[in-house]
Amino acid sequence: MKQKIKQAINCGRCRDKKYVFVNQKGKVQAEACSCFECMVCEGNRRIFEETPEGLSKIRECECSELFKRIDLFNQAAVPGKFVHEDFSSYSVDPPQHRTQKNALLNSQKFIKDYIDRKGQYSQGLIYMGPPGLGKTHLVVSVIKNLVMQYGVECKFVDFFELLRDIRHGYGEDISEKDFIDPYVGVQVLVIDELAKGRNTDWELTILDHFISARYNDDDKVTLVTTNFSDKLGNAISSDRNDKQGLSNAYSRFTLEEKIGARIHSRLMEMCKKVNLEGKDHRGM
Ligand SMILES: [Zn+2]
Ligand SMILES: [Zn+2]
Repeated sequence: MKQKIKQAINCGRCRDKKYVFVNQKGKVQAEACSCFECMVCEGNRRIFEETPEGLSKIRECECSELFKRIDLFNQAAVPGKFVHEDFSSYSVDPPQHRTQKNALLNSQKFIKDYIDRKGQYSQGLIYMGPPGLGKTHLVVSVIKNLVMQYGVECKFVDFFELLRDIRHGYGEDISEKDFIDPYVGVQVLVIDELAKGRNTDWELTILDHFISARYNDDDKVTLVTTNFSDKLGNAISSDRNDKQGLSNAYSRFTLEEKIGARIHSRLMEMCKKVNLEGKDHRGM
């Protein structure tokens, strides 16, 4: 057994991270912890200095980085119910569950690789498998870490929401650029529950357009979760009441059948596959 060195924690609220997450109006928001205090700028976040020539100069205090990250996080639009989720609370059930363990390791490795490559030519991840295995929990944990530890711009969007925004954009006659750009332009985009619902040809055309734009950009990374898999055998639900999962769309269609060969092949190039399997699936 490895002996853990325990360090005294001064603030129980933030565990000395100096920021906390709260659920506000359905979104997770970050804010500075009440324990945060900067002795250098005394809360001004700016420092007044005098040059050797006697001119006064203003520069940002180092503590302003925390507030920049908080602002960045608050634009990521992470759903409020994930306020407490992090890698440390991702429970692998049973503890030796191979695919869940693998998904956790892949998520942590993704962050390391992304930071090592400074966001260039990084491959994203596509988490595939039935509901209830914590796919969204993991992508939310990735966002929290990338933004708060490294100051990377991230955005979370539910697939339904994305289509609704796009549909709304066309309906309101807003220029396509205006409503697609916030999603196309973000450094790390998370699309949750890809292929959920009945996707019309029109929706798939828009999705294609959108995925292609990110595909062509070397410094954009996309993370995706989906209940659909590449093989139907992988899609058996972990829900025992679901009569072997056969009543669900994700048990009847593969991801490729749902989104079409072209979008599927692009996604497979952009993202590394992370398969998750339900616990009832073992031995089948
Ligand atoms: Zn604190
Ligand atoms: Zn300061």
